[in-house]
This record gives sequence, C-alpha cells and structure tokens, in this order.
Amino acid sequence: MYQIPAMTKLINELTKLPTIGPKTAQRLAFYLFKLPKEEACKLAESIVEMKEKISYCKRCFNIAEGEICYICSDEKRSDNILCAVAECQDVIALERAGSFKGRYHVLHGVISPIDGIGPSELKIKELIKRIKEYSTKEVILATNYDIKGDATALYLAHEIKPLGVRLTRLAYGLPVGSDIEYADKTTLLKAMEGRREF
Ligand code: ZN
Repeated sequence: MYQIPAMTKLINELTKLPTIGPKTAQRLAFYLFKLPKEEACKLAESIVEMKEKISYCKRCFNIAEGEICYICSDEKRSDNILCAVAECQDVIALERAGSFKGRYHVLHGVISPIDGIGPSELKIKELIKRIKEYSTKEVILATNYDIKGDATALYLAHEIKPLGVRLTRLAYGLPVGSDIEYADKTTLLKAMEGRREF
C-alpha cells in the first residue's frame, strides 16, 4: 500500500500484536521511523535478547533466564506450599502483593473445551508430579473467578484431593470475572490471606 516494502513489512508485523489494529500499527511504525536509529535498534535488540535468553523454568514453568527461575532458586522460600496459576503474568501480580513465600506452578492456560484446551494441554501432570516429589502440604488454586477458572479449579481439586494435601482457593475478595493479572496489590493480599478450603 505504501510501495515501500520495508514499511509495509513492519506495519504487518506490528498488526500481529494483541490489541494493535492497522491504524495503531501505522502510527507506531512512523513513530519508530522518526526515532534516532540507536533508539529503534535498542527495541529490536531487546526483543532478540529476550527471545534468546528467556525460556520456561524446568520446575514451575514460569519464565526464567537459565534452567530454573529466580523463585525456584530462592532457598528462603518454602517447598511446602504451592500456588497454581494459569499464566506467568499471574506470578508477577501475586509477587507484587508480596505476602506469598511458597513456590508457584504455572499451568499455561485454563481448561476450555470450546477452544479445544483440555487438561492434557496444561502443565497438570507436572503439578501432580511435583506435589508427590516435594513434601507439599498445601496447594493454593489461584485461577480466575470465571467459568474457565472455576472449571480448572474443580478439575485440579479432583486430581489433588486424593493425594491428601490441603487444598485452598484464593478468597472471593477478587471480583467475579476479573483477572488476577490486573487485580491491585491490596485485593491480592486479602485474597491470599483469606484463602479458604476448597
Ligand atoms: Zn521456577
């Protein structure tokens, strides 16, 4: 459309990003064009560096630089208590609240038959294995309070309860349908402290 292939290519790539439509992509592309070359290159380099250095933690499936993430490597944290979350962003949100001193397990999604996501697509087998291998005493289910989050929590309860560990879920202080990822610090702190048997 511009007869300028390099610009068209950049706009096409930006349009693939979430929440970025064609107009925003065009605005961003021109913004980047006007930036000093070093500034634009810093952005490009940081994307390449992130892709080269970051992968998933072999233990909890959170993002990590290296094999094991900083939370799994922290000796001050307790192995006795595991908090199961849907996405890595939920770890960041709960860490910001700051009260939880156990370990996490990132499921990488929630059960959603309509999207073809069943339990085997999630890191549930790995969670069960961890519960058995470590001396886990409590598992906190920290999925969102919506249909998919509830279905996932119920499935996990069915799998985990027979193992004889305490099972809790974040308290209902979290608004129904809201994302843990976007909840504020105080809400998450209360949800964690007020967690109940599930
Ligand atoms: Zn980890």
